[in-house]
Order: sequence, then C-alpha cells, then structure tokens
Amino acid sequence: MNAKTSLLPLDIPTLRAAVESHRDESVDLLLKLVSFPSLVGREQPAQAFVRDTFESLGLQLDEFEVDQNTLETHPAWSPGSMDYAGRPNVVGIHRPRFGESGRSLILNGHIDVVPVGDERLWTRPPFEPYVSNGQVFGRGSADMKAGITAFIMAWKILRELGLEPAAPVYLQSVIEEECTGNGALSCLVRGYTADAAIIPEPTSLRVMDAQMGVIWLELEVSGKPAHAAFSEKGGSAISMSFDLFAALKELEGRQNAPQCRHARYADHFNPVKFNLGTIEGGEWTSSVATNCRSTIRVGTYPGTTVEQAIAAIREALDHALEHHANREIFSYTLSEVGFRAEGFALDHDIPLIAELRRCHHEVLHGEAGMMAFTGTTDAKFFNLYGETPAVCYGPGGENTHGIDESVAIDELLDSITVIAWFIVNWCKCNPIK
Ligand SMILES: [Zn+2]
Repeated sequence: MNAKTSLLPLDIPTLRAAVESHRDESVDLLLKLVSFPSLVGREQPAQAFVRDTFESLGLQLDEFEVDQNTLETHPAWSPGSMDYAGRPNVVGIHRPRFGESGRSLILNGHIDVVPVGDERLWTRPPFEPYVSNGQVFGRGSADMKAGITAFIMAWKILRELGLEPAAPVYLQSVIEEECTGNGALSCLVRGYTADAAIIPEPTSLRVMDAQMGVIWLELEVSGKPAHAAFSEKGGSAISMSFDLFAALKELEGRQNAPQCRHARYADHFNPVKFNLGTIEGGEWTSSVATNCRSTIRVGTYPGTTVEQAIAAIREALDHALEHHANREIFSYTLSEVGFRAEGFALDHDIPLIAELRRCHHEVLHGEAGMMAFTGTTDAKFFNLYGETPAVCYGPGGENTHGIDESVAIDELLDSITVIAWFIVNWCKCNPIK
C-alpha cells in the first residue's frame, strides 16, 4: 500500500470482505432488476423500483421526463419515435454533509433493454432471471443491469462502512440509451455535470475510452408496379433497396480501408459497420413491388460529424441510382429516425482513466485493458457536450443483445469493489458522524 492510500479511512481487504458479505444481496438486486421487462417505452416500473432504492440509500431524488421541446434544438438530440410521458429518468443526489474535499462523480446506467429476439431460442424466459453456473441469466443482465447493480451496491456498502463521499455524487438511471440516448442527454441539459462520469456498461472490466458514432437512417425506395408475369415492364423497389444497400456496403468497405481509419481503430476487424436492420416492402406476391422501406445503422469514426457522414451516404446512393440501368423508374428518400451520435476518443492519460486503472490494479492485481468500442453509448454526451470526462467500465460483455444473455457474479462483485474503491479515491470520503 502506498503512502497515499494509507491515509484513507478504508483499506482494500476490508472493502473486499464487505463486498463479499453482500454477494447474495447483490445477486438478488440484479435478479429483481432483470425481472422488469424494461424495453424501450416500458421503463417505468423498473424506474419506480430504482427510485425507491435510491431513496432508501439516503439520496435526494430528482425524477423527470425527457422534455422534447427543450431538447430538440440541442445538437445531440436524436429524433425518437415514442412519447416521453410516464417514462422518467431517476437521479439520486448526494451532497457532502461533512466537508467537501474531493472531486464530483456521476455514475450513470441505462435501464432500457433491447428486444429479446426469438424467445423460443432462450433456455428460460428472458425476463424470468435465474442463477446457473455462477452467472445471472436474463435480458439486460449484462447490458446493463449488472452495472446499475454495481454502483448501487458500491454506494450502499460504503455507507454501511460508515463512509460518505466528500464531493457531490449523482447516481443516474436513464431511459432510451438503446435507440436515441435522449434520457442521458436530458440529464446533461438539466445541469448534471461532474469532474468525471463512469458508465458501467458491459466492458468485461476494461476501460472503454473511445467509441464510434452511430446514425440510424430510414431509406424509402419507390419503383414501378407491374404484373409479375411481365416484370420487365416494372421495377422492384425491394430489389432496388438491395442494390442501394450494396452501394452502401461498398462505402463501408472503403471506410474500413487501413488508410481511412481513425488511429484508435487500426487493429479492429472492420470497425465501420453498416447494418440493414429491418426491411419491409411490396404489396402482392404476384406484383412487382412499388415501395420498400428499410432501416439502416451506420457507423462513423470519432471526428466525423453526422452531416459529413450523411453527405457521404447520399453521394453513394445518388451514384448508384445514376448508374442503374432503370434509373428513371426509381427514386428514394432518406430520413433520420433515431441515433445521430458522433464518436469520441479520449486521451489515455487524463486523470479519470489513470485513477480508474490504478484502482482496478490495486483491487484486482492486473492491468485494466483499454477498449475502443465499435458501437455507441451514453458516454458521448458527457464527453462531447458536458465537459465531463466519461468512460465505460463494468461487468459482463458476452452475448449482450443476444440469446441467453448473462453476467458472471464474480465479475459483478469485482466491479462493485473497484467502483467503491474509485469513489473512495476520487471523491475522498468522510466518516459519517
Ligand atoms: Zn448498454
């Protein structure tokens, strides 16, 4: 133990033992959270439970809905498709009572989960969580209810040890991370900034300090209907949608070329991903399809603006259309329907990263790996618009968004310990008098 930590009112073995003694309670909390089917739009019952939990931990509550009128002129606003009424964010606020000597901190997690896919493929129903082989299974277990569990338990255990942070700390449970991020954005616009933010997304306890931009687009193609028996007289909007997406895949390939890459993504397998996520079109099995609508997820490098990315996409689509044999038959429209998130890449040596890696090392005796993510998280808002350095660091990472999503209980406990130790070091702690 170095001179700095020996001055603290807590040592790691004591903290570790305290976390271990809360193993069952931590698992129970995670099981409870996963049992809420908090799909986008249905977050409220889970948020009510989180609110009650924050309240029981002595935190001051701030519960508020996303206010579209206030937010939609913000550069980071993403157009959503759902009403925000009855879907609050919940923030638990700590203000130090015994003197302020540390740095402030935001601990943020999203309560929403993605759809389960084909439920028949799951071993057990996705919202009936269970423990097997040292893991908790269920939709949202890793992404990211284990992360929310981690910071709630870290907070609770420090309190039980008679400590409270000597700086403001904000525990945030937000909605809609999985399609717009407007939940976290509204926290920022409401005034929540800090000296650092940690989002315990499932990074397998690596420090994620870079992420790609993500844009969601809707492509509507119209063609020319005809009887299938004389299909040469028409032009299928469905076939044309595939032709246009093929042109986008060529653009994706060019952007993945080594000379086009952002430095932090030099070693990734194809970091730029264009995904044809949904498609629907056509009117009749024996008619050439008049219309086709598809939604496409686009990845962009840190430093590329949404406008630049969309301009490149339009150029690729226009080029494909102009060179199509039946170009006069087809037309398309492109619109934004969700994420319009830019990427970011932090410097490795900022205090947040240095201190988090030191805490990880002191607790777990190994180097915390670094990670540049090929997707997006709410960390972008804090970094790009909130002057709050933010990283992701949390338990789990296998099969998120997949079938039989799970998180290892040992990793959950490790994350609780590291986050608690980070709070002690970053915020400093006062004994509760
Ligand atoms: Zn997540």
